[in-house]
Amino acid sequence: MRAAVFHGPNELKLEEVKKPEINEHEVLVRVNASAVCGTDVRIFEGKKTKGVRTPSVIGHELVGTIEEVGSQVKGFFAGDRVGVMPVIPCRKCYYCLNGRENVCANRTAIGYEYDGGFAEYVRIPSAALEAGNLVKIPDHLTFEQAVITEPLACCINGQRKANVKMGDVVVVIGGGPIGLMHVQLAKIAGASTVILSEPIGHRREKALLAGADFAVNPDIESLEDIVLSETEGLGADVVIMAIGVPFLVNSCSNLLKKGGTLNLFAGFTKDVMSEIDPNVIHYNEITINGTSALTRADYHKSLSLIASGQINTEVITTTGYTLDDIERAITDVKNGNGMKTVITQ
Ligand SMILES: [Zn+2]
Ligand SMILES: [Zn+2]
Repeated sequence: MRAAVFHGPNELKLEEVKKPEINEHEVLVRVNASAVCGTDVRIFEGKKTKGVRTPSVIGHELVGTIEEVGSQVKGFFAGDRVGVMPVIPCRKCYYCLNGRENVCANRTAIGYEYDGGFAEYVRIPSAALEAGNLVKIPDHLTFEQAVITEPLACCINGQRKANVKMGDVVVVIGGGPIGLMHVQLAKIAGASTVILSEPIGHRREKALLAGADFAVNPDIESLEDIVLSETEGLGADVVIMAIGVPFLVNSCSNLLKKGGTLNLFAGFTKDVMSEIDPNVIHYNEITINGTSALTRADYHKSLSLIASGQINTEVITTTGYTLDDIERAITDVKNGNGMKTVITQ
């Protein structure tokens, strides 16, 4: 089969490799669509190394069709259309037992420890099947729509951590695909006003299509002034950082009203520090927290939101890439050319 094999930073090669073989407890999925995540960009650039093997096949946002089912596997059949939840929790560790399976101490993931979705086929290991990480997708969804389930599930986790409530004013930093998912989810959660900050023009336009009330260009406008004028000088209830820029953390904390929450949703470059004024946290009683990955419940919630037509997936994705275009699909995300690039095959 053909696969994009990651050999190290900036070295991704489309190669002919052996088609994965499955045992009686495993499933083989033919990949119909896989999407490029910001994390894939960071892996490609060498900015994320944890859990990344070389050589390996990366890509953890994938949907496809079951090609082959091991004799001991129940409930799945060849031809089933499925989504793959990449993070496999151990279900036994302290975190799994305390409602934080997304940060499982023994977590493994498809696209990291197991080969991922930038290939024609992917092997679903028995650990993933036992944990329920393979999910059937409704017939009426296209693969291009369904491939958003995983990143949207991560955003659902983020909205919960950010504590978005009815009537809130929510600020989203960054108008990439993740930012636009947060815009849509905040609206679904009942936010009265969503303000998005993004320097790239076409992304601001998309943000308005996604439901943002304001799309601010931080290069020419003061985001703080706009937030204050929209909140009678109080500040936002929630700020979600959908870009991992360390030096913005402090200014983001200043956008909050007292008692507000700043969620560091995006991953940051390893070992880069950010300065923060502790008195803003102290006197304003703000909460700063983070979000990592997704739970299995988030994946199901995400799929049901997409299936019920509540998510505009078109505004989030740029389709039309094939495996041959893998490097361009990654650099387009890196350079902000498209939105979430989706490889179909
Ligand atoms: Zn992802
Ligand atoms: Zn665990």
